[in-house]
Amino acid sequence: MASKQKRIYLDYAATTPVDERVLEAMRPYFTQVFGNPSSTHTFGQEAEAAVEEARESVARTLNCQAEEIVFTSCGSESDNLALRGAAFAARQQRGAKHLLIAAAEHHAIAHTAEQLDRLYGFQVEMIPVDAAGRVQVDEVERRIRADTALASVMYANNEIGTLNPVSEISEVCRARGVLFHTDAVQAAAHLPVDVQALKVDLLSLGAHKFYGPKGVGALYVRKGTPLIPSQTGGGQEFGLRAGTHNVPYLVGMAEALRLAQEERSDRAARLQALRDRLIGQTLENIPGAFLTGCPVRRLPNHASFVFEGVDGNTLLRLLDMEGFACSSGSACKSGDPKPSGVLLALGLPPKLALGSLRVTLGKDTRPETIEDFLATLPEVVERCRRLA
Ligand SMILES: *Cc1c(COP(=O)(O)O)cnc(C)c1O
Repeated sequence: MASKQKRIYLDYAATTPVDERVLEAMRPYFTQVFGNPSSTHTFGQEAEAAVEEARESVARTLNCQAEEIVFTSCGSESDNLALRGAAFAARQQRGAKHLLIAAAEHHAIAHTAEQLDRLYGFQVEMIPVDAAGRVQVDEVERRIRADTALASVMYANNEIGTLNPVSEISEVCRARGVLFHTDAVQAAAHLPVDVQALKVDLLSLGAHKFYGPKGVGALYVRKGTPLIPSQTGGGQEFGLRAGTHNVPYLVGMAEALRLAQEERSDRAARLQALRDRLIGQTLENIPGAFLTGCPVRRLPNHASFVFEGVDGNTLLRLLDMEGFACSSGSACKSGDPKPSGVLLALGLPPKLALGSLRVTLGKDTRPETIEDFLATLPEVVERCRRLA
């Protein structure tokens, strides 16, 4: 049980609280403007106007046209629609069956690609990452074939914070006529998401990672990109994603994205200083501690480590007892823990990968909190080592 006195959230990569301003923007759309946007009467038209306004707002932020934004139910669904939609369309149109996926992707990409390979006859090829978790542009280029349907490389890694050279990879893909998708779910709170500058064809977003509500997302689809819908039914979302719109959540996502991008630079500068203090002190004060991911090209709010001789799940439990909510890379909450695929892709030994810790900061994180955490962590790591 977590202590009642102190509860400190340091897991903003898992999810963020809804910004009060976002909640206010959403409120009227639960009870007052409640129509179905697909209805022709005034109730419906009012709701439809709200959806289209949200679409225009998201499009402005991404520097694209409103018709290029497809609303979905989450970041995972956006990833699924991008991968399945582009893969099936490319095979139908030109017999393409080869997919390039980076080795450190989120499960929403990795498990979708695995299924496309196992059950649907696609050939999925992994693009390796370096020891910092970064994809090298030439590793993508040399794997492109005449029958490559799509390449997918995430913008920022949720587990290790590493940033990928997205615009350079997309340039190579574009030159070779291969569609390029990026999972920007973790990046959108902290990095620019101008799809023209990034030169991507498809880009996934999930609102709850940038102070919007859970259960809503968006996929940018560059005009002319062939996609086969993965959820069929009504004609919503240009026929690409059936289902009655979640109007308040779409309004909330648009406002959250606008605010996140507007406030991004100031926030990043403040958080990066705290992050660097956290990383520096942890590596200095704890023997057998290593940073995972890239020391330089990483999310401004993201610190991730492995500790020798530590079980990550035990570490999380002990930290929670001290009032700190963090995360680790291992997939299992209990029982037989498996090292994270992302950490293994970096080339870490499995035993060391089991001792992982992720500490992610957010807009409410104060400097005193980081000092408090730094004062607690060495002793907790020591206790873990004695328990191992
Ligand atoms: C959280 C996350 C997802 C999944 O988004 P949901 O909205 O939770 O489905 C996908 N990719 C990355 C990189 C994420 O961080």
